[in-house]
Amino acid sequence: MSDPYDQLVTRLKRAHTLGTVADLLGWDEQVNLPPDSADVRAEQLAVLAETQHAAATDPEIGRLLDEFGRDGSPSRPTEATVSALGSTRSTPDRAVVLRHARRDYDRATKLPAEFVREKAAHSSHAYHAWADAKACNDFAGYAPFLEKHLALARREAELLGWGDRPYDFAIDKHDPGLTAAQITALFAELKRALIPLVRAIRDSRVRADTALFKAFPVESQLVFLREVTERIGFNYRRGRIDVSLHPFCSGTGADIRMTTRFDADNPLDSLFSSIHETGHGLYEQGLPRAHLGTALGQAVGMAVHESQSRLWENQVARGRAFWRFFEPRLRALFPTQLAAVSSEELYLAVNAVEPTLIRVDADEVHYNLHILLRFELEQRLFSGALAVRDLPAAWNALCTESLGQTPANDREGVLQDVHWSGGAFGYFPSYCLGNMMAAQLWAAVRRALPELETDFARGDFSRLLGWLRENIHAHGRRYDTLELVRRVTGEELSPKHLLAYLQERYGGLYLG
Ligand code: ZN
Repeated sequence: MSDPYDQLVTRLKRAHTLGTVADLLGWDEQVNLPPDSADVRAEQLAVLAETQHAAATDPEIGRLLDEFGRDGSPSRPTEATVSALGSTRSTPDRAVVLRHARRDYDRATKLPAEFVREKAAHSSHAYHAWADAKACNDFAGYAPFLEKHLALARREAELLGWGDRPYDFAIDKHDPGLTAAQITALFAELKRALIPLVRAIRDSRVRADTALFKAFPVESQLVFLREVTERIGFNYRRGRIDVSLHPFCSGTGADIRMTTRFDADNPLDSLFSSIHETGHGLYEQGLPRAHLGTALGQAVGMAVHESQSRLWENQVARGRAFWRFFEPRLRALFPTQLAAVSSEELYLAVNAVEPTLIRVDADEVHYNLHILLRFELEQRLFSGALAVRDLPAAWNALCTESLGQTPANDREGVLQDVHWSGGAFGYFPSYCLGNMMAAQLWAAVRRALPELETDFARGDFSRLLGWLRENIHAHGRRYDTLELVRRVTGEELSPKHLLAYLQERYGGLYLG
């Protein structure tokens, strides 16, 4: 009889592989699908989701898990498990895989099929209700869908034993181990220092001119961003980049699908969104291939994922050393378009700070304020302090307070994001936590490799990637978010590195 652990891993990998097929169909839906083929794709995805769920809840997985204790040793050593393992001693790797497999299995099996179906169907309806509400600027039409999503989120938490802490459960789904209380403390510290910085930059006489860029042919933009993303380390033999309406990155280590979008008059948008997605892609490509399908081959959570994309997008690609290398290349590709643009103007445009009501358009100084607002509102919704019908007014009030701008309508206010329409509460904080983590990792890697930016100016990003591979990517889900940060940076996750980084980069540019 083969090792029960190997039998378990075979089953986990099968469920994972089915998930990757669904990912691929999802990618294809957004990149290639002919307009009248949406129905058949919805059917394909539904059948696959059912098959994948059946694979992930295979009772044989439960039986095999029951053969092991928490540390990965056989819980009831039988002749078969003992002889198959060679001894009753476990290995740390196995303990990690078993711990996560147990958690995932419990979460997949404790929810009644009826509930799973209801939530999936509601998400689909709510998505369309949101899209319609956004198009017609009609929050009232969407409110009942949001109310039901909140009720479903509470019910799910209850079914999984988190009934007294439904919002913590929502957070834990994206960033295992983190709680609303921890995030509240981190965000409060961030906000105290961020608001004065934002105000000072707003009062600065320095202004970036983002209308400098006109008529950048898309073909050449693609050449440039391919070159940039390849040079920072993306392996195009195990991934590709295509065009979609909204940029994203899907797939796992062996096959990464990234997307971008092009605007001839805004080449920085496609460039930076591609670098961002490349950061996600590099993380996935760096996860140990042999462990794909188990916790050791999986990303820790959304905050760590976002730390990888933000680090490359912001700390690296908005820095002077990066542009020292890439500016000549950009000018060679767009000689006439950039003829009248000075190096300093280009660098300032790369680091433009401009308040906006729209999160996805926000610069990195303002971005976190958009997240703080959403986190605050999610907590009030979950505590019952805020009713869904009062959400637009609460949104606008917070927006005015923190961003100094008031949405003229709900389309540029509470209806702007897709997340809640899919029931994805507790997701927004990951973006801001990822920003904090990126800055903290950046401080740590600069301590460890002080000459790093000299490398960048030569177009060499391999030492940074190597450091991330070794310290973050190689571990899969061995450590939870906060433990990983502690181990890699030697300190607790804190906003102080993000604040210092923003002060250094943007204070330097705008507050001279
Ligand atoms: Zn991202």
